[in-house]
Amino acid sequence: MNPLLDFSGLPRFAQIRPADVTPAIDQLLAENRALVARLTDDATPATWAGFVEPLEDANERLSRAWGTVSHLHGVLDSPELREAYSANQPKLVQYWTELGQNERLFAKYKALAASPEFAALSPAQRRIVENEIRDFRLSGAELPAAEKKRFAEIMEALAKLSTDFSEHLLDATNAFALYVGDEAELAGIPADALAAARAAAERDGKPGWKLTLQAPSYLPVLQYADSRALREVVYRAYATRASEEYAASLARAHEFQARAGAIESEPPAADAVAGWDNTPLIREILRLRREAARLLGYASHAEVSLVPKMADRPEQVLAFLEDLAAKSLPFARRDLAELEAFARDELGLAPLEAWDIAYASEKLRVKRYAFSSQEVKQYFPEPKVLEGMFRVVETLYGVAIERDEAETWDPGVRFFRIVAADGALVGQFYLDPYARESKRGGAWMDEALSRRMKAGRVQPPVAYLVCNFPSPVGGKPALLTHDDVLTLFHEFGHGLHHMLTRVDHLGVSGIHGVEWDAVELPSQFMENFAWEWRVLEHMTAHVDTGAALPRPLFDKMIAAKNFQSGMQMVRQLEFALFDMHLHFDYDPDGAQTPLELLDAIRRRVAVVFPPVWNRFPNSFSHIFAGGYSAGYYSYKWAEVLSADAYSLFEENGVLDPATGRRFWEEILAVGGSRPALESFKAFRGREPKVDALLRHSGMTEPAPA
Ligand SMILES: [Zn+2]
Repeated sequence: MNPLLDFSGLPRFAQIRPADVTPAIDQLLAENRALVARLTDDATPATWAGFVEPLEDANERLSRAWGTVSHLHGVLDSPELREAYSANQPKLVQYWTELGQNERLFAKYKALAASPEFAALSPAQRRIVENEIRDFRLSGAELPAAEKKRFAEIMEALAKLSTDFSEHLLDATNAFALYVGDEAELAGIPADALAAARAAAERDGKPGWKLTLQAPSYLPVLQYADSRALREVVYRAYATRASEEYAASLARAHEFQARAGAIESEPPAADAVAGWDNTPLIREILRLRREAARLLGYASHAEVSLVPKMADRPEQVLAFLEDLAAKSLPFARRDLAELEAFARDELGLAPLEAWDIAYASEKLRVKRYAFSSQEVKQYFPEPKVLEGMFRVVETLYGVAIERDEAETWDPGVRFFRIVAADGALVGQFYLDPYARESKRGGAWMDEALSRRMKAGRVQPPVAYLVCNFPSPVGGKPALLTHDDVLTLFHEFGHGLHHMLTRVDHLGVSGIHGVEWDAVELPSQFMENFAWEWRVLEHMTAHVDTGAALPRPLFDKMIAAKNFQSGMQMVRQLEFALFDMHLHFDYDPDGAQTPLELLDAIRRRVAVVFPPVWNRFPNSFSHIFAGGYSAGYYSYKWAEVLSADAYSLFEENGVLDPATGRRFWEEILAVGGSRPALESFKAFRGREPKVDALLRHSGMTEPAPA
């Protein structure tokens, strides 16, 4: 039997082979398509048991099989598996697209919602049906034929424009190469970045060092290069990518290259550079998004974007962002004034230019908070950290976390179970902590199984927690940086959202159906504990001496965390406001350019004003090529919610079990079964407030004058 088609228990990692993928997926897709045809037949009753449940069962089987494949693709990649993955992935996309556009299915959901049965369904079931109807509507399923055709054309055009936008940016970024022959120009840049630059030049058959606009090259130059001229030329190129200013930036870089060692190189062709300009794409994207929104009966794209989100109205988001801006601005001004004074007095940099900010900030940071992450790391051996994190969860929620047995995909993977006070199994998780060659970078939580009732019995949820920490070496435990610790807590927070759910219906259990701008609440919430002295005290033990983290070192870590938090806050708010206004009340056919809009926003909320040739919008992929349009605010939104939720723990005691139980009950347990704002208010007893985030970022009253 194909192990991917065995749904009787946990995935059979020891048996699964890449050759199993295609037959399993083909079989499941064929079964599901046949089922969908039957379920959408006129003879099938439009009832929960008639079509929702059988469809949920079938889609769960497909998701489980494919989930196992994509999990292995992420953690145990091989050429064979990659091939099987790429061969099948488009089939899955096709299936889900088909389902999302199946009008007979849409009609069934509408019939169910209009039937007497609907009122008798549980709130979770009703929400699943309502979410389905909402998604069908937002994809244009209810439009008259001619408008539906136009809507589809717009979607297709937008997909192409997004792809073009990111390809232009990628091509422009990759086209930049600055060969520096004169080593003196590179003073200050760390040895590892220099070695990489040297190797990159060698690969091109050139002498000297090759600098690029990719982050591992660009960031060290801006942060460390003592040569102000070098920083300027690299900054200018970076800030004008994919714009009409880029050709001039490349020419300046070329002149610089001639002065700094005179290495010969071929600049990119002028017509190619001109072809990467994203300026016309931005207006076109905004126009089409607005047209699509109007076809759906909304005034703006921002309103459509917010329908499946926690925030209700664009005005509400704007007010939220403006409130944060007003409260952060005094601190941002103070940050900048301190930086300017430091740069002038100690570095001789006045006026402070855009290409000096990262450089001067790094020097100021080091001067103020001289500690290294290497020093901190010695206090965070992985077993101690894990034990400490489990202790937090056990104390808050009254559960026990125990080792468990399961087949895994690597000997380094551990399996655990979470058990309730009465001995009932709550959930299970795999922990795959260490970096491996066959593993994708980063850290994530994914679901192996989701909680639901099946044939009268609960199916407990199972999670994958994947990190990329360094492996233990030389008989010593793995040592985590504090950033690693935060990552672990963050992902475990997602894991708890998935595992502590009590919802019985798959579509809204755990993280399913949770509004997009509320998903990061439980994860960012967990991070707070990794900044809590009472927690860290017991979670640290020096790898050689066993001593806990010294309090003075902890205080420095906190101060460093809040370094320039005002400046960073207003910068994020500037982006979020720009994004929301562009998609709400900006007229892409009007006289004002997007750049002018950005300028007007900066005059209200920014402290740093980039040079006039800066073309930030042309590389703002999050909103023009990613999924963040009218959604960039969600970063700050989630931070505010999680900080505010955590502040109840600060009020009642950070490890207070009663507050923990309430967080479980009102937030984690209910998953997507009710609106996130309702859950938040049920937990916090009021609407969210920004104060806790400001306090956690060191922006406390009294504000500087
Ligand atoms: Zn996250």
